[in-house]
Amino acid sequence: MQNVISRRKKTVREIDVRGKRVLVRADFNVPLDEDGAIADDTRIRASLPTIRYLCERDARVILCSHLGRPKGVVEERLRLVLVANRLSVLLDQPVVALRDCIGPEVESAVAAMNGGDVVLLENLRFHPEEKKDDPAFAERLARLAEIYVNDAFGASHRAHASVVGVPEHLPAVAGLLLEKEIGTFARILEDPERPFAAVIGGAKVSDKLEVLDNIISRVDTLIIGGGMAATFLASRGYGAGASYVETDRLDAVRRLEERATERGVRLLLPGDVVVAERLEAGVPTRVVPAAEIPDGRIIADIGPGAADEFSRELAGSRTVVWNGPMGVFEIPEFAEGTRRVAAALANLRGTTVIGGGSTTDAVVRFGLADQMTHVSTGGGAALTMLAGKPLPGVTALDDAGTP
Ligand code: ADP
Ligand code: MG
Repeated sequence: MQNVISRRKKTVREIDVRGKRVLVRADFNVPLDEDGAIADDTRIRASLPTIRYLCERDARVILCSHLGRPKGVVEERLRLVLVANRLSVLLDQPVVALRDCIGPEVESAVAAMNGGDVVLLENLRFHPEEKKDDPAFAERLARLAEIYVNDAFGASHRAHASVVGVPEHLPAVAGLLLEKEIGTFARILEDPERPFAAVIGGAKVSDKLEVLDNIISRVDTLIIGGGMAATFLASRGYGAGASYVETDRLDAVRRLEERATERGVRLLLPGDVVVAERLEAGVPTRVVPAAEIPDGRIIADIGPGAADEFSRELAGSRTVVWNGPMGVFEIPEFAEGTRRVAAALANLRGTTVIGGGSTTDAVVRFGLADQMTHVSTGGGAALTMLAGKPLPGVTALDDAGTP
C-alpha cells in the first residue's frame, strides 16, 4: 500500500546536517486577520522542532513557504516578514526575512550565513513558477542549499516546485512534523487499535467520496453527519426536505452501504436532526426525526439524540479519525452536534486524529485541540492520506536506507 512506502522515507535524523546549508520547505500558510496580522500561529509552532533540531547541529537553516494566494506577483500584505518576526520570538533568535526567494541577492545572503543562523525566503508564490513546478525555478531554489527537508505536510499534496522540483536536485528528507503527520495517518489506516471508527461530515458527499471509499474498507464503524447526511438519508428512501441531495451520488452512496453490509461495518446516520428554513444565524430551528424532515426545511446539524448515540458509539472505540463537521458549526445555532462529537473525542481513552481545515477550526474553537492525539496541520493533505493516495511531496523524498 502507498502509505507503507511513505513510512520508509528518510528523515532529517538519518542524514548528517552538521554545518550544512539546509533548505526547509515549511508550511507557514497561516490565517491572517482583517488587519493583516497572524490570526493563528499553530503552523509556525508546529515547525519549531525541525528548525531547533537543525540549529542545534549548527546547520544554516534556509526556510521557505507560501502564504495565501498571491497569483504569481508580489502582494505586500503576503510578505513573509510577518512570519519571520513571529518565528524569531518563538525561537528566541534572529530570523532574517529576505526580500525574494531566488536570485543573486538571496544567494549572497545565504553565502554569508553562519552555522545556527536562520533565514526565511520570501513567499514562494510571488513567482508563478512555483505552482507550475518550473524546473529552472526549482533548480535556482536548490542551488541555495546542500540538503532539502520537507516539513510542509499541508503543502505536500501539491506538485509545486518547492515540494517536488527541488528534491530532484538535492538529498531530500522528511522533517519531524512531516514524519509525525505521515506516521500518524499511516498507523491508523494500516494498523489501528480496534474498534476503529471514522466520523465523516462536511457539506457534500462529492467532496469526500474517495475518503469514504477508502475508509469503509478499514473501519469497524462509520458515522455520517453534516450536509452529506441528506444524500445518505435520501439513498435509504427518506425525504430530506429542502436539504441539498446530491442525486448524482445516490448510486455511490448505495454502493458504500452495500460494502458496509458486506464487511460488517456499522454505518450510522443521524436519527434526528436540527432543521431550519435557511442556514443563517437567528432563524428558528427545530429538532425532528431524520425520517420526518418537513417540507422546505434544511438539515443544519445532527440532533441531540444523534449526538448521544454517536458519543456512546465513540466511547467504545480505541481509534477515531474525524473529518468534516456535523453541522454548520460556524453559526452558533448549528454548532452543538459538532461540539458534542469534539467533546466525545476529547474524553476518549484511545487515539484521536483530526484532519481537515474546518474540522480543525472547530476543535480549536471549542478549546479541545490539545486533548486530541493529533490535530493535523494539513487540510487537503490529510484528505489525500485518508483517501489512501500518495502525497507527491512525500513520494519525491529519498527512501530510507539509501546512502
Ligand atoms: P473539512 O475542511 O474539515 O474537510 P469540509 O470542508 O468537508 O470539512 O466541510 C466543512 C463545511 O461543511 C463547513 O463550512 C460547514 O458549515 C459545512 N456543513 C456542515 N454541515 C452542513 C450542513 N448540514 N449543511 C450545509 N453545510 C454543512
Ligand atoms: Mg474544508
